[in-house]
Amino acid sequence: MNMILILLGAPGAGKGTQAKLLAEKYKIPHISTGDMLRQAVKDKTLIGKQAKQYMDAGQLVPDGVMIEIIKERVTQADCNKGFILDGFPRTVVQADALAALFASMKLKQPQVLNFAVVDAEIIKRLSARWMCPCGAVYNTFTNPPQKAGVCDLCGKKLYQRDDDKEETARKRLDVYRKQTQPLIEYYQQKNLLINIDAARAIDAIFKDVVKHL
Ligand code: AMP
Repeated sequence: MNMILILLGAPGAGKGTQAKLLAEKYKIPHISTGDMLRQAVKDKTLIGKQAKQYMDAGQLVPDGVMIEIIKERVTQADCNKGFILDGFPRTVVQADALAALFASMKLKQPQVLNFAVVDAEIIKRLSARWMCPCGAVYNTFTNPPQKAGVCDLCGKKLYQRDDDKEETARKRLDVYRKQTQPLIEYYQQKNLLINIDAARAIDAIFKDVVKHL
């Protein structure tokens, strides 16, 4: 099955969590631009150095940089059977560039999942999100670790993303509304949008998503 998925939704809507489950079920790569950028920052690469100031401010990294990153990634061999885009596109410019890229690669149309959650819930979720260096993600309300502050999978100490702290989280939500939300209409018009009520438990959302694909 050649499955191409785009996950849309505010920061904290649960895109990453669902992307991981979908990648496991359908055996296709989970491409998170946020994870790629965080790795680049950690490795102090040129892209990492360019991106850091924007990420710390809760702003978007420039479209040109992001489009190059995605082109490079989706043309790799492991994407032949499909892939999941989590966090890209985030602007209409990125969405247009993606459509052009798919056309040049003769790929089929993507399915676009829109994870909808109300704003008050988003801020609550972001400030409750804890990460593990191994990649696991927890939420003290919706998905707490068995022992507070410690990863269930590997036992390492959990930490909070700098940009999840309240002020930057609000800024990111603002950026989402202005720059990314128009993509809902964009994909709706192309008849590619699937709306998912993301204010539910992780497994209920996952079952619903699978039913739609
Ligand atoms: P995320 O983990 O998806 O919330 O992304 C974290 C940060 O990385 C965002 O707040 C942006 O600064 C940057 N970022 C990730 N994906 C993109 C994108 N497609 N376009 C611009 N900036 C991005």
